[in-house]
Amino acid sequence: MIRHPSFRIEPWTLHETKLDLDLLPQTESLFALSNGHIGLRGNLEEGEPHGMPGSYLNGVYESRPLPYPETAYGSPESSQSLINLTNGKLIRLLVEDEPFDVRYGDLRAHDRVLDLRAGTLRRSAEWTSPAHRTVRITTLRFVSLTHRALVGIEYEVEPLDGRANIVVQSELVANEEVTTLLGDPRVAAVVEAPLVSEEHSASDAMGVLIHRVRRSGLRVAAAMDHVVQGTDRMRLSSESSPDAARVVITDVLEPGQRLRLIKGIAYGWSKERTLPALRDQVAAALAAAQQTGWDGLLADQRRYLADFWSRADVELAGDPELQQAVRFALFHVLQAGARAERRAIPAKGLTGTGYDGHSFWDTETFILPVLTHTVPEAAADALRWRHSTLPAARGRAEELGLAGAAFPWRTIDGEECSGYWPAGTSAFHVNADIADAVIRYVSATGDTSFEREIAVDLLVETARLWRSLGHFDVEGRFRIDGVTGPDEYSAIADNNVFTNLMARRNLFAAASVCERHQGRAGNLCVTPDEMASWRAAATSMFIPYDERRRVHHQAEGYTDHELWDFDATRTDQYPLLLHFPYFDLYRKQVIKQPDLVLAMQLCSEEFTAEEKARNFDYYERITVRDSSLSACTEAVLAAEVGHLRLALDYAAETALMDLHDLEHNARDGLHIASLAGAWIALVNGFGGMRDQGDVLSFAPRLPDGLAQLSFSILRRGTCLRVNIDEHVATYRLPRGGGPLEIAHHGERLTLTGSEPIEREIPSPPPREPPEQPPGRAPYRRVRGVAVR
Ligand code: BGC
Repeated sequence: MIRHPSFRIEPWTLHETKLDLDLLPQTESLFALSNGHIGLRGNLEEGEPHGMPGSYLNGVYESRPLPYPETAYGSPESSQSLINLTNGKLIRLLVEDEPFDVRYGDLRAHDRVLDLRAGTLRRSAEWTSPAHRTVRITTLRFVSLTHRALVGIEYEVEPLDGRANIVVQSELVANEEVTTLLGDPRVAAVVEAPLVSEEHSASDAMGVLIHRVRRSGLRVAAAMDHVVQGTDRMRLSSESSPDAARVVITDVLEPGQRLRLIKGIAYGWSKERTLPALRDQVAAALAAAQQTGWDGLLADQRRYLADFWSRADVELAGDPELQQAVRFALFHVLQAGARAERRAIPAKGLTGTGYDGHSFWDTETFILPVLTHTVPEAAADALRWRHSTLPAARGRAEELGLAGAAFPWRTIDGEECSGYWPAGTSAFHVNADIADAVIRYVSATGDTSFEREIAVDLLVETARLWRSLGHFDVEGRFRIDGVTGPDEYSAIADNNVFTNLMARRNLFAAASVCERHQGRAGNLCVTPDEMASWRAAATSMFIPYDERRRVHHQAEGYTDHELWDFDATRTDQYPLLLHFPYFDLYRKQVIKQPDLVLAMQLCSEEFTAEEKARNFDYYERITVRDSSLSACTEAVLAAEVGHLRLALDYAAETALMDLHDLEHNARDGLHIASLAGAWIALVNGFGGMRDQGDVLSFAPRLPDGLAQLSFSILRRGTCLRVNIDEHVATYRLPRGGGPLEIAHHGERLTLTGSEPIEREIPSPPPREPPEQPPGRAPYRRVRGVAVR
């Protein structure tokens, strides 16, 4: 996408210099603003044209029945869909009665800048109406990272060629018409007019709309207020109706005169709170914003981001486009999680309704590793959200005849929303992924109160699930049969290596956390016998290995399956899930996304270097990357085993997933996990960072094409900065502190104060890079450009 000539490569912005209406749906996602609580797609202020209007609140959904052709015990009866709520970013303009609409007249200039350090979206346009009147419009929009309930918009209009009658209608509009494309399961279900009006009002420059979501019953309030500066001819009026509140400003402007509007919009929602309470809540948020003032709010936003970048920035030399993409990626990962505050982080963040706004294992496996090391409080909150859904997860386990808790495959509020059990119910690994994120967070932060209050419950209930899901066979091996691993082109398989290794970690961690927090464990009625049985299962966990081919099975017997006929598969038949039946995909060797390869990243210590190299080679040849959750893991393992050039190709693929619209569905929202994958590819890949175990270890190595890489990791309150160039890695604690123990290619180092430690980088072992299935090789990254 940004290869499009109207996009510029700049280090700290996403910059569009020409408006291409065909790209509107994608750019609405790319220019989305969010703080994790409120999400606004980058729709034009005037509302039309649009790809898909989008104003979201994290956790506000509509329930819809899940229809099944055949009923089956345990299938969820309803699902939840993220819905488009009251649109507060609408500001319509009329110039001499002619509506400003870029489809008509002449758009003489257009410029949009998403500023990653300011946290704002700036737009300027010069437009000549069909009646030949020219105006300049400039807008600045932000979703506040410091005032969770607040959106701010500055809007200015000035005539450029003579006196003009100007009308500005600043609105709140509910139940906008939403269009989506059908036929792709990754797209959201359409929910029409989901909001039922409960109250509306307008007076002076204010407006309020309060609605209930028709079936889920959630209550949503939106309020707006304005500060307006115009000439002494300016007039202002307001009105409201059930689905709209409008403040109308008229003025007559001479060239050089401007009408300036500052619009504050506050959102609130609740399942429990009364209408007056919610009305007061949004009024209070607007009052607090007024107190801080426009400049104060922008300064707060900048400060918040300066603090974020001081911990999270990844600097690259040698590839400006990748540099831009990585920062863009980190910005959106932050936006998705910053103020989610005990709500889920959806797969698309709040940038679109793709996947119905559901959260998956994406959060714990891809997004939280980044947040844990850069914004740990956001990671803790996301895990607290999981914890708050324990009652539903316990209920689901009971319904399935299992012990402990079974967390949903996809959800908004904690209830299972997957109507496809082979890849939903049976993808039990999500439970171990949650446990893994808990273990990682505690190890990275040393947060003992979190460990006591949150970790014990989550680890115990997931360990109980594993203990009841698996069994000891006659040979004394602990087996977990009939489950689906990360690769969704196979399902209901026995002893999926990823699942078994992650469950093993989960079981051991549950036993040791109970030893450390006996009181809390006692509340859950954990006994020494139960802890012993977790350890026994973990110790005897079955990890299937193919002795003949000398590779691990993805799941027991996997490498004996027939190979997919890649030569007979046309390139337009990818993604395969849209062209072939699951039954056929399931019984052949073809991989949608890394599974065994992901196990080698997350459970690195369980494989020898030679096993990793052989496994990578084997699985690379059958992995088609039909999921955006592929390239980052491929990058990490390619880097580890020594295919540095391939690793760079994959790092670029994950980072550019949405900017280049590689999956052709950026219109539905951004792939937040893939964007988090940009950090993973660079930090875990070229930095070789592994955070399992007590010591943070690094095995840095750069590919040709990157002259330098620097990143930071927060470890127990200490900030570690790692700088890597072709031959040397430098580790230091820029803010002092320590001692911090780390490992560099196996050598233990202790950092104290701000004294750097330098170490040479050993060369990688020489290896022939493996091939991918025909037509599925990543774009090659050559001198900072993607080429086929
Ligand atoms: C992947 C899942 C992922 C989901 C949401 C699917 O295509 O196969 O692993 O959780 O997308 O990102």
